[in-house]
Amino acid sequence: MAITRDEGLERHLQRVRARLAAAAARAGRRPEDVTLIAVTKTVPPERIREACALGIRDVGENRAQELRAKLPALHDLPLRWHFIGRLQTNKVRDVVGRVALIHSLDRWELAEAIDARARRAGIRQDCLVQVNVSGEATKAGLAVDDVVPFVRRVAALPGLRVVGMMTMAPPAEDPETVRPVFRRLRELAESLRREGVPGVEMAHLSMGMSGDFEVAVEEGATLVRIGSAIFGERPAEAR
Ligand SMILES: *Cc1c(COP(=O)(O)O)cnc(C)c1O
Repeated sequence: MAITRDEGLERHLQRVRARLAAAAARAGRRPEDVTLIAVTKTVPPERIREACALGIRDVGENRAQELRAKLPALHDLPLRWHFIGRLQTNKVRDVVGRVALIHSLDRWELAEAIDARARRAGIRQDCLVQVNVSGEATKAGLAVDDVVPFVRRVAALPGLRVVGMMTMAPPAEDPETVRPVFRRLRELAESLRREGVPGVEMAHLSMGMSGDFEVAVEEGATLVRIGSAIFGERPAEAR
């Protein structure tokens, strides 16, 4: 379903919110228990400002440089920023302390870099562990079997706090086919909660994008990351 740019942002947002609320209702959940993160990569600051005027409070960027460029232009807005892309250790300083949540913690080296930077800034950075549930070779994220040991190890770092997990499902024509991916992440969170790793909360599941967010909400997403269904298709190279 292609969305053309000439449709209004307001209409897109209304439609996404209605679909989100309907998916929550189907699962017996409250719509306010799911936070809509508007993914603003490639979206210019003026349109982000418009989205904020329409009630968007959470925005997600996937590149440190783009985040750094946009923050000063939008510092007057009541926005919570999320970092959702692959994070290089040498870009950590552009992200830590500037975002409410890093969704893409996927390796020990990155955990150490975030921890060091956060302690220097005197803060604790909230993070989600990114999990490659589908096992696609091209996807970032820890293998399912590596998550528990990783979370235990990271729990010892005082500069960061794990508050949940994130995953990306493979692109699919029919979102039903990726339901098992989301279900698996929820089950993994439940087992981690039962184990009770000290210092680790499993409060959040970041899962669901424009093509599959309804299924993700039905499977327990607390954060959905939606770009093109709100802002329209991006230039092809920006993924
Ligand atoms: C771009 C992106 C999204 C949003 O994708 P859409 O299909 O446009 O909704 C979500 N999560 C991540 C990590 C992304 O990079």
